[in-house]
Amino acid sequence: MQGRIKIKIRIRVKIKIRIKIKIRIKIKIRIKIKIKIKIKSGGQECPPHTGTCYPIPSQRYFWGLLLPTDPVLVVHGGAWAMPDDMVEAHIRGVKNALAAGWRVLERGGPALDAVEEAVVIMEDDETFDAGRGSFLNRDGRVQLDALIMDGATLRAGGVGCVEHLRNPVRAARKILSESPHVYFVGEGAEKFAAQHGIPLCKNEDLVIPREVERLREYQAEANSHGNELFAPTSDDVTISHDTVGAVALDRDRNIAAATSTGGTLNKAPGRLGDSSLIGCGCYADNLSAAASTTGWGEPIMKLVLAKWTADRIAAGNLPEWAALEAMNYLKQRVNGHGGIIVLNREGQIGIAHNTPRMAWAYKTTKKHEAEIERVA
Ligand code: ASP
Repeated sequence: MQGRIKIKIRIRVKIKIRIKIKIRIKIKIRIKIKIKIKIKSGGQECPPHTGTCYPIPSQRYFWGLLLPTDPVLVVHGGAWAMPDDMVEAHIRGVKNALAAGWRVLERGGPALDAVEEAVVIMEDDETFDAGRGSFLNRDGRVQLDALIMDGATLRAGGVGCVEHLRNPVRAARKILSESPHVYFVGEGAEKFAAQHGIPLCKNEDLVIPREVERLREYQAEANSHGNELFAPTSDDVTISHDTVGAVALDRDRNIAAATSTGGTLNKAPGRLGDSSLIGCGCYADNLSAAASTTGWGEPIMKLVLAKWTADRIAAGNLPEWAALEAMNYLKQRVNGHGGIIVLNREGQIGIAHNTPRMAWAYKTTKKHEAEIERVA
């Protein structure tokens, strides 16, 4: 018997089909943001009669927002070997000047106004060799020089050898803003000032007993030693140099400088020092720096020291370095002595002197200091 073999094969096929549908959606979003950096020209407009001037951009915009600058103010009140009993008065004087200039900057006022107001305070303070209480010239008269300069437009106003103005810096400012000229001397300067509303005074109103005595002593000593009766030839750092000056940076990022002086003791009538000469005792250019000097005027003039210093800053050096270098240069090149304050548009400052003392003060939104000793 044949057997039957039954083979049962069960095949189970399980097919699992998984269909994965991936949908890729690529969304490209392009956002175009246009950033407009607008540079608005600043400073005051030039009056039509002063010809063409080229204001340097002042305000800066970033992402459409105006970036204000923190203001800075630096003032000085002379550089020499001030005796201890005069230290207090000098410190007080530069602090008062700082406060007056700062009031302008704080409310958003221009650097030009700030330096003018700061200098006026020191001209009115008999401690300093500026305005009333200045040194007397050989004839016993007060003869004043002052300069003010606007870094945005390079406009400047200066007066020299004026004898009837309490605040020569006010007259200088009027020249800057209302005259096609830059510099007036003597009677012409006083006439211009009077025509522009600045009252004149008598020369005697500017003379104080302390200075009459100082001149008398100086002349007596010079005579007894048979010396040349002309102080400015001296390189003696104990000879007082109490010229005043200020440099400022305002919220619109403009800089300005002003310097005012009664010159050197026993100077020859008509002698003009460095203080009121552009680039010598005072300078301001938004492209470089604002500077004000004090000290023995003749050597400073020869080196055009304020402009020399500003040029160093335009070349990329820090004001601190440039100020120190200026003092080294003054000493090494012409055996001069004095001091300098300098400030750039970034708000960086330099204060230096090669005399034993210098009265200075500065203020920013974060810091303020007033000193009389050497700045390291
Ligand atoms: N520089 C001034 C001048 O020679 C003097 C001073 O700074 O005190 O007239």
